Amino acid sequence: MTATRIPGTPFVDDGALVSTNPATGEEVGRFPVASADEVTAAVERARTAQEWWAALGFAGRRTRLLKYRALVAQRMEELAALMRREGGKPEVDAVVELASAIDHVHWAATNARRVLRLRRVRAARLQLEFASSVEYQPHGVVGVIGPWNYPVFTPMGSIGYALAAGNAVVYKPSEYTPAVGQWLVERFAEVVPEHPVLQIVHGLGETGAALCRSGVNKIAFTGSTATGKRVMAACAESLTPVLVECGGKDAMIVDSDADLTAAADAALWGGVYNAGQTCVGIERVYVVSSVADRFVAELVASASKLKVGFEEGSEVGPITMPAQVEIIRRHIDDAVAAGATVALGGPDAVKPPYVHPTILVDVPETSAAVREETFGPVLVVNRVRDADEAIERANAVSYGLGGAVFSKRRARAIDLARRLRSGMTAVNSVLSFAGTPSVPFGGVGDSGFGRIHGDDGLREFTRPKSITARRARSVLPATTFRRDPAATARRLIKIIKLVHGR
Ligand code: NDP
Repeated sequence: MTATRIPGTPFVDDGALVSTNPATGEEVGRFPVASADEVTAAVERARTAQEWWAALGFAGRRTRLLKYRALVAQRMEELAALMRREGGKPEVDAVVELASAIDHVHWAATNARRVLRLRRVRAARLQLEFASSVEYQPHGVVGVIGPWNYPVFTPMGSIGYALAAGNAVVYKPSEYTPAVGQWLVERFAEVVPEHPVLQIVHGLGETGAALCRSGVNKIAFTGSTATGKRVMAACAESLTPVLVECGGKDAMIVDSDADLTAAADAALWGGVYNAGQTCVGIERVYVVSSVADRFVAELVASASKLKVGFEEGSEVGPITMPAQVEIIRRHIDDAVAAGATVALGGPDAVKPPYVHPTILVDVPETSAAVREETFGPVLVVNRVRDADEAIERANAVSYGLGGAVFSKRRARAIDLARRLRSGMTAVNSVLSFAGTPSVPFGGVGDSGFGRIHGDDGLREFTRPKSITARRARSVLPATTFRRDPAATARRLIKIIKLVHGR
């Protein structure tokens, strides 16, 4: 039955979601598809589990989460091998992804108390008789919907932070990577056996839609912009808050004084790592004309050495989602037809399930390869007059996720980084923000809103709770009907003019 199917395309067989390897078609696992009722039942079970989990407090949750991250760390090789079997990525790429995900769980576990605990805040100048405090309380049950391209790092950015904040989680992994999701949830149950604090529900898009309507207290969605809009629409029915992490079309700016060898190396990594299937991958490079030829020569020299395939030692694996190959092909064909120069690869580089590294130079800014997310190992390199023009062009797309700037002048690089319309920018590096747990991660525009990682990422999975507690009688009791109206107004006007009237 599987022989006639396109390798990598999941299918449902006898009520089970069947996951297959995109390079070989090998069956990786079968997982029962959850009906809408089963999704709702999982959320109900999670409610009781969440009360128990929240009652453990920051210290109790920290202990369990640190045990979890240690268990995943100890069994990294096993998980990396599974990620390779199911998604096709080279094992070293899986290890790089895991290293970062594990560090994020550690950070969330060890910082949750500092960021979220009950704390005193300043009293109001006009209400000194009240002591004020704020704490960040968990939402309750969080539904996490994840993509397939980073099946551990990406969902963990929501799951790890949501758990550290005291929520229970019901996780719907992508239909392309259910086995990796199942592994993560089973390991968590080994360190938290008492209650189903982290559960998984498998299925296709309908299962994700059912999770949106299941009564969860928040949805954390990572995936395409089109699906993100559907998720928001479904959540709007019940006013369920959403975190939406979508795609990108990230740009790198290479200024005239940049270290071109480092910039070319980083552009190649940012564009081709994980076969270009990276939400914060570099898809466009704007390089100042005076150094463009040297930059492209360095880039092509390194890119042409990369080994594409699934066998041991390959550096660029298959395209995980077979349907994506046609999108990549369209972007390349369209750019070439519009007059782009093929510096490497090109239309012949598309050999399903692989796409060989492709570098397109001087691509018209109206092309799909410049404006839409390609999600393949394709780099557009366009020359610009100067860094200001680079910023203008970089900011002219609907997405705004990450990006990078290369310049030897640090202050100038940071100024350019600040001017890029995106949630994160790496300077003289690429993607470095993703592996830095203390900085928030998320986008603007079509890249979505809300943040994972960092203090903001912890707060994203909570609701602020404010408490104002009387500690003394009011000197000027204005908010009671027992006041003297005329005297109160007169004194209040006098005070406000004194305090704010200048
Ligand atoms: P999709 O949008 O196709 O799917 C994302 C998830 O949503 C999957 O689990 C999917 O399930 C589920 N889903 C599909 N339809 C619905 C629905 N109607 N309601 C609820 N859930 C639904 O994205 P991909 O999996 O293809 O992921 C790639 C995209 O993710 C890229 O655009 C990439 O840039 C982006 N991404 C963004 C990141 C960020 O942090 N900003 C990080 C990583 C990726 P199923 O798979 O079963 O269809």
